[in-house]
Parts: sequence; C-alpha cells; structure tokens
Amino acid sequence: MTGLRAPQHHVMTNTMTKTPMPSQKPIPPKADAAIREIVGEKGIIAAADAAPYLEEWRGKWRGQTNLIVAPATTKDVADIVKICAEHRVAITPQGGNTGLVGGQMPTEGELLLSLKRLNRIRDISPLDGAMIVEAGVTLAAAQNAALDVDRFFPLSIGSEGTCQIGGVISTNAGGVNVLRYGNMRDLVLGIEAVTPSGEIWQGLKRLRKDNTGYDLKQVFIGAEGTLGIVTAASVKLFPLAKETSTVFAALPDPGAAVRLLSRAQTASGNQTTSFELIGRYGLDLVLKNISGARDPLAATAPWYALIEFSAGTPETLPTMVETFLAEALAAGEITDATIAANAKQAQALWHIRHAMSEAMKPEGLPQAKHDVSTPLSRVPEFLDKADAAIEKIAPGARIVAFGHMGDGNIHYDVLPPDPVRGAGFADKIHAIEQAVYDVIDSCEGSISAEHGIGLARRDDLIARETGPALDMMRAMKSALDPLGIMNPGKMI
Ligand SMILES: Cc1cc2nc3c(=O)[nH]c(=O)nc-3n(C[C@H](O)[C@H](O)[C@H](O)COP(=O)(O)OP(=O)(O)OC[C@H]3O[C@@H](n4cnc5c(N)ncnc54)[C@H](O)[C@@H]3O)c2cc1C
Repeated sequence: MTGLRAPQHHVMTNTMTKTPMPSQKPIPPKADAAIREIVGEKGIIAAADAAPYLEEWRGKWRGQTNLIVAPATTKDVADIVKICAEHRVAITPQGGNTGLVGGQMPTEGELLLSLKRLNRIRDISPLDGAMIVEAGVTLAAAQNAALDVDRFFPLSIGSEGTCQIGGVISTNAGGVNVLRYGNMRDLVLGIEAVTPSGEIWQGLKRLRKDNTGYDLKQVFIGAEGTLGIVTAASVKLFPLAKETSTVFAALPDPGAAVRLLSRAQTASGNQTTSFELIGRYGLDLVLKNISGARDPLAATAPWYALIEFSAGTPETLPTMVETFLAEALAAGEITDATIAANAKQAQALWHIRHAMSEAMKPEGLPQAKHDVSTPLSRVPEFLDKADAAIEKIAPGARIVAFGHMGDGNIHYDVLPPDPVRGAGFADKIHAIEQAVYDVIDSCEGSISAEHGIGLARRDDLIARETGPALDMMRAMKSALDPLGIMNPGKMI
C-alpha cells in the first residue's frame, strides 16, 4: 500500500545540522519477506485496513509506507528490529495514533510497527503498588485493571480509550491529574524496550529506589520512538480515593486563578488532584457547538476554574471544600461557584473541559494551536502578552485559552476572526506561532508542555534551544541509534 504524502504540512528533509537519516527507499524485498515471516498473517495489516494507521485523526498528516506490521511478542519486535538494522530499514513505532505532533506517522516510507498486539497485563501487585503492562494496552484498560484490584492508575487524558501505554510513555503524557500524581515520567518504575540494534533491554523493575547508575528508563520516556521501542512497563499504582469533590468557580482574572490554586492546595493538604482553567470564550464555543452542554453558573465571568479534590476520609471533604470556597469568595479570588452534588453533575462539568477541542472544530481553519507552559506565577503575564501580540498580528483573531493551570500548562489556541475580517489569516499562522513562542521564551516557559515535538515542533525546537542541549540530545541519539533507523525526521 502507499499512503499519500503529507498534504498540509511541511515534512522536513535531512540537512547537515540535523540527525543523519538513512536514505529512504522501499523496504528491500529480502527484509520485507523476513519481517512478514516473523509476524505471520495475523501480524500484517492489509492495504484495505491501512487508513486508520496512516491518517492522523485531525487529517493534519498522512503517512506513507509499504508495510505495516503488528508483532505479538517482545521477541518478535526484537527480531524485526534486527532485520531492519541489517537492511537499514527505518521504523516508526505506533501506539493508538492519537499523538498531536505527527510523531507516529511514517512520512518517508518507514516500516510502521504497531504495538497493538502486545496488549497483556503481565502482573499486578497491590502490595507493591505496581503493575506490569505491555505497550499496546490502552490507557483505559490499564486504569480498569488497577480498579479491579482496588487501586488507582492516575494518568488520565481525553484520548485514554485509544492511546496506549507505549504511546503515553513515549510522549511523556500529562493530563488532568498531573498536579497531584505527576506525568508519565513520574509514574513509571521500569521499562522493557527493544534497542535500535534489536536487543531486548530488560528494565522492568518495581523499585521505588534504585540508584545504580544512569536512570535508563528515563531515556525512553518522552523519546517519541527515536531511541528504541518500548514493549512493556512497570507503572505505579495508588490507593483509590474514597471521595472526590468537583467545583466549578467563576474568576475575575488569571491572577486570581494562581492565588486560588495555592489556597486550594493549602486547604486540602495537597489533595487537589486537578485544577483546570477555562476562558469564557472557550465556554461559549462549547455551549454553541456541543449538544447538551449547559452553563454551570447563572452569571457570566471572564474565567473559570474546574477543580477536583480527592480524599481518603470522606467525612472531612465537604466541610473543607465549603470553607475553602467561602474564604476564596471573601478574598475576591472567585465571584461564584458550584459544587457537583453527584457523579453525574461532576461528569457534566468535566464534559465542558473535555469538549473544548471538539467545540473549536466548526470555527474555521486554519487554527494556530499551542501547548505551552510557564512557571505558575507567570501564566497571567503570558496570557496578557500573548493576547496583545496576537491582536497586533491578526486583529480580531479569537483566542481560546484553557488547560492544566495547575501545571502551568495552557492550551493557547488562536482561531480565525469571523469570515468578514478573516481574509489572509492563513498567511499569519507562522507569525502567530513565533509571537506566542517569543512570549513563552520571555516568561521562561516551554514551547511544548505535554504533546511533544514530533514533526510539528521540530523546527521550533532546533531554532530555539540554546546552549549545548541539542548537542547532548544528538549525542544520545547517535550513541543509541548510530544507523538512524528509529523514527527518523522526528524531534531532532
Ligand atoms: C482528544 C485528545 C486528547 C488528548 N489529551 C492529552 C492530554 O491531556 N495530555 C497529553 O499529554 N496528551 C494528550 N493527547 C495527545 C495523545 O493522546 C498523547 O500524546 C498520547 O500519549 C499518545 O499515545 P498513542 O498511543 O496514541 O501514541 P501514538 O500517537 O501512536 O504515538 C505517539 C509517539 O510515540 C511513539 N510511540 C508510540 N508507541 C511507542 C512505543 N511502544 N515505543 C516507542 N515509541 C512509541 C510514536 O512513534 C510517536 O512518536 C490527546 C490527544 C487527543 C486525540
């Protein structure tokens, strides 16, 4: 099968300044035959079934390859990689294909290696607070396996029904519970991976403490498939909270959100699990474009916080939340608030937050999407400066700012102005992105808080990374993958 080339996005070619890429050519027949033999008929994705693997969900990138395989064991993955190394065949690993920066797309004819058949829970131990899962287990299945033994696996993101453990490790995914439990980097105890030469690295430890040299598992976390293939992981489990409380509060400005977060953490004794920020315009779009969505509060406000608390002792939670809200009201940090009375109401509040991306879809293209972070205290400054910069470049552009405020992570999306004033917006996208990143740099922030680099942000990473960081990354890449066969053209 041959997928189409990326139609809307510039796919980079090799240059002297970038990591060497193997020449891209069709997979040699000998290698092709050997790989097919390893996976057998069950492990080959037929041309007719290839579309879901080669199309990014928003249609932003399309992959191209002549071979998509789904091996069922770690040994099969290792044997395939050995063949690829021998024949200099490049490989793109793929999990659930929900990545937002194009890292999972084989843009130059690479072998597409899906991990979906490595989908077993190998072990689960409530006493160790650990679970060993294979790379192709979906995040939702991993969460459910933990619940089955009265434990909690806290990583939670909008794509959890589809994305896979190998994918969330390789992108170091974040989501709504990072504030309390950390991102994927904090949740992994050990990793099993296939190196670019086809060796199996057995690093599936369940240790909370292990200072035996470099922490090799961290090399694979967030590596976006450029340093090897994650085949399984040992992840942390937590006690299940007995009670949660979900609050939707109206705020006068983002500065109030920073103070409110600090108050929530103090009041709850670090039991604030989520603290999401939602701008009024984003809420308006949800109300307009998502059927069944309701405004949770009577009066409108410029900003809202969706806050979730959890506790092991249910008795104290309601009192704590009520006192916290009363004090925040007195301090002028909130102007109104509602507490979900039951799980259904909590779900409705979370639905607003999760529907933000969907609500923007009908609002015209192109849209400039940014996934940025700053130190918490500088989020208000970022928002002020970025809004001003955008208004200069594209007067009337509509800004939807929302996201994981508790982590200083804002999804800052710029939509075209209404059609009458919107002419020429497409030509301004690059300038808008660069202006946002300039503000981020001035606020000591990051141009990619949780989605990664992939194809989408590679030029920006290379242009903006200062000091020896890029050299160190490239040294790691060439030490571990001297042939450059692992996901070439992505990240660095
Ligand atoms: C609706 C929606 C909501 C989202 N919300 C969030 C969010 O809140 N927070 C967040 O962080 N992300 C979010 N994402 C982004 C995305 O879900 C994550 O990046 C996720 O971690 C990707 O997992 P995946 O299995 O789909 O990986 P893929 O998209 O298949 O791959 C992602 C990258 O990882 C590499 N990779 C995949 N599996 C392996 C493996 N086994 N070994 C080595 N490399 C591998 C790929 O080559 C690629 O570079 C969201 C996406 C969607 C569509």
